[in-house]
Amino acid sequence: MGARIEVLGSGREVGRAAIAVWDGSGKAVLLDYGVNFDEEDRPLFPGHIRPRDLEAVVITHSHLDHVGAAPMLYVSVRPRLVATPLTLEVSRLLLMDMIKLNGPFLPFDEQVVDMMLDAAEAVGYDEEVEAGGFTLKLVYNGHIPGSAAVLVEVDGSRILYTSDMNTVETKLMGPASFEGLKVDVAIVESTYSAYTHPDRRETEERFYKAVREVVEAGGTVLVPAFSVSRSQEIISLLAEREFEYPVWLDGMSRQVADLYASHPEYLREPGLLRRALRDYRIVRGWSDRRRALKKPGVIVSSAGTLKGGPSLYYLKRLGGDPRNAVFLVSFQPPGTPGRRLVEEGLYGEADEPLKARLEWFDFSSHTDRNGILQALRQLRGLERVILVHGEYDGQQVLAREIQEKLGVEVHIPENGEAIPLN
Ligand SMILES: [Zn+2]
Repeated sequence: MGARIEVLGSGREVGRAAIAVWDGSGKAVLLDYGVNFDEEDRPLFPGHIRPRDLEAVVITHSHLDHVGAAPMLYVSVRPRLVATPLTLEVSRLLLMDMIKLNGPFLPFDEQVVDMMLDAAEAVGYDEEVEAGGFTLKLVYNGHIPGSAAVLVEVDGSRILYTSDMNTVETKLMGPASFEGLKVDVAIVESTYSAYTHPDRRETEERFYKAVREVVEAGGTVLVPAFSVSRSQEIISLLAEREFEYPVWLDGMSRQVADLYASHPEYLREPGLLRRALRDYRIVRGWSDRRRALKKPGVIVSSAGTLKGGPSLYYLKRLGGDPRNAVFLVSFQPPGTPGRRLVEEGLYGEADEPLKARLEWFDFSSHTDRNGILQALRQLRGLERVILVHGEYDGQQVLAREIQEKLGVEVHIPENGEAIPLN
């Protein structure tokens, strides 16, 4: 078989990213190898690939749906692993945490994760890496600190895998920019293929105003947030505006924040996070959790969808008082307690009705339909687009729009499908 792109995961689904690019000689580079989780929280793995066929594995960022299955490839052989230093460090935290929570369902353990990270090469943006017949380059993509798109050159084709990307400026990140990049095939995330985010600056303003209102009226705001990037985004936003009431940070986000702060080169404005870590408080145990509830303030805590983590404890303590508030800052997938709270207003094991104020704010770190089109317009020589990491309905709408506006061919592969190059 000749050179081709094989979709092993994230075909017509969000998450579980896994894309193999094959050359004509039977060797491949693997771009991400992530997991999703089913309703019972068991991991769903991407399609199989033989580790010995791999010239390199590239991990684009430290989210489990991009890195969670990668240790499977390191049980017996050790293909090269390429990622930014920050991605490697945060991935280690996440993978060890996943083993703690899901260990019995995983075909690897802590030692394998360490073996994998021993095989890793920390690579910065725009550095060229030669791997067999492939040339790889990480490109800034605005998603989360340390994240990257990947440019792959093989057999005369130039392929850009955007991975998860963001095209607006956030507190932590600058926007993705692919201006002038010469690319034949773009493999593009399409999480929000049929959706337009509200204006980011307005969302930030609205969030800040609402937080102040609640706290100044004597309430406490619970912000359930993912420990990787969203929590740090929220505390940076509060620090930028010099929010002077107590802010508490709970869960793994604290370790992630420390890693971010130790790699300021990956932050748009590192002073914001530094200020937040100086002025705001870290929850170090149960006595801090009780202290955090004593005075009006803000508690930023994992999990972002209220599925486990200390946010459940806070919700139980805060949910019954209308002076308090729960401000959701992440997408709430169907089946999560966060979604149930939004749709039915109920929480906890006893199905209590929420009395605290509830609001949802769109702080997405994924671009939307307009952003995808804008990013594709920046590329030179584009001939084909492959949509991955999205729901099929929305992808079809976006595919038509890309065809009409850019005049290029668009594929929406299923998992297991291979698209020939050239
Ligand atoms: Zn991501």
